[in-house]
Amino acid sequence: MGMQTVLIATANQGKLEEMQALLADLADAALVTPPDVGVDIEVAETGSSYAENAALKARAYSQASGLICLADDSGLEVEAVGGVPGLYSARYAPQAKASDADRRQYLLAQLDGKPQPWPATFRSTVCIAVPGGDSYFAEGECRGEIIADERGEGGFGYDSIFLIEGLGRTMAELSMAEKNQLSHRARAVEAAKARLRQLLEPDV
Ligand code: IMP
Repeated sequence: MGMQTVLIATANQGKLEEMQALLADLADAALVTPPDVGVDIEVAETGSSYAENAALKARAYSQASGLICLADDSGLEVEAVGGVPGLYSARYAPQAKASDADRRQYLLAQLDGKPQPWPATFRSTVCIAVPGGDSYFAEGECRGEIIADERGEGGFGYDSIFLIEGLGRTMAELSMAEKNQLSHRARAVEAAKARLRQLLEPDV
């Protein structure tokens, strides 16, 4: 089977860069991004689970592009505030047009006064959608705790306030290569890769 094109179905630049690096060693796949193929869509994340939202995104991009698509839906669950922001991690802050920094500040404001440590888990579900065909899912998680003072410049989202369990460093203190060895998304994408290889080389 020849080279097939796989679209990384996300509008989030941080995710896109991580997923490109994680998938770079896939033989027989030409990775493309939504702008590469002229796809500019916004998918309403109306599902009630990471898997449903990942599927909504992967299928919408697959329909728009005619390509095999891989999408991630992810979130941060913080125990001391009942597991939020979870599915709503990208939209968690009262103000319109909030930034990642606004969302980190808002989370810290919710945690203020609650006894530390603040255990938390990052979760990711990846969906692979085949045009006109099936969808496949893989999950990953990464445990840690939220800290009150930001540390590190790397990554995106909540990375600078997420201290990784057993490592003593925040996600933002890791290089992308290091984050891609242990993050929730790295684990989900690694698990999805086996299925992707089968789809790309059905005879293997
Ligand atoms: P969604 O999957 O597009 O709904 O967005 C997930 C949101 O969860 C992101 O916008 C971030 O706020 C947060 N998030 C997911 N993964 C990460 C990560 O690896 N680092 C930091 N924040 C993350």
